[in-house]
Amino acid sequence: MRKFPAPIHNVVAAMTRFPGVGPKTALRYAFALLSMRQDERERMARAIVDLSHVQTCKECFAYTEEPICSICRDDKRAKNILCVVSESRDISTIEAANVYHGKYLVLGGVLNPIEGQTPDVLHVKELIVRLSEHPEIKEVILAFSPDVHGETTMMYLARKIKELDRRATRLARGLPIGADLEYTDEVTLGDALIGRSEM
Ligand SMILES: [Zn+2]
Repeated sequence: MRKFPAPIHNVVAAMTRFPGVGPKTALRYAFALLSMRQDERERMARAIVDLSHVQTCKECFAYTEEPICSICRDDKRAKNILCVVSESRDISTIEAANVYHGKYLVLGGVLNPIEGQTPDVLHVKELIVRLSEHPEIKEVILAFSPDVHGETTMMYLARKIKELDRRATRLARGLPIGADLEYTDEVTLGDALIGRSEM
């Protein structure tokens, strides 16, 4: 990269931490920031700093501002069902479909041993503890994207869940193979939840 003042270099280095952002894009962002008004830029910086107030829920591991998230605190949520998702953001996708009214557990990724994503770095143990401590949970929905790693993860979890004598279900096959849950529209996701099948 060409020589730029250190503050620009620092921003470029920070921006390349984002997924899909290389040095060129990062440099474009740095210049875009420079062209902003100072107060605008400061507001942006503050928003990033304020992310420190976000923590993970002690029960479901979703991002929240309180120790226990609002979904886990909601007594009106169905108690006989649990939905396991890969990431915290998948919860908002499912909530938007307005079909599922139980609680969640965020696994924290999918199984991918080559990338170091083994069962012990995911919340597999916590899922087993949750099921052992809550015999009222009869069904676990595995709401993962139907790609290679999502499929492997669902197969692995289904075996564990069935060992504990609970039902393991997955979203209906209506989702396109390899589709990312994140980019699935609410209606399709709602249908996939209603039409879920036994594993
Ligand atoms: Zn929670």
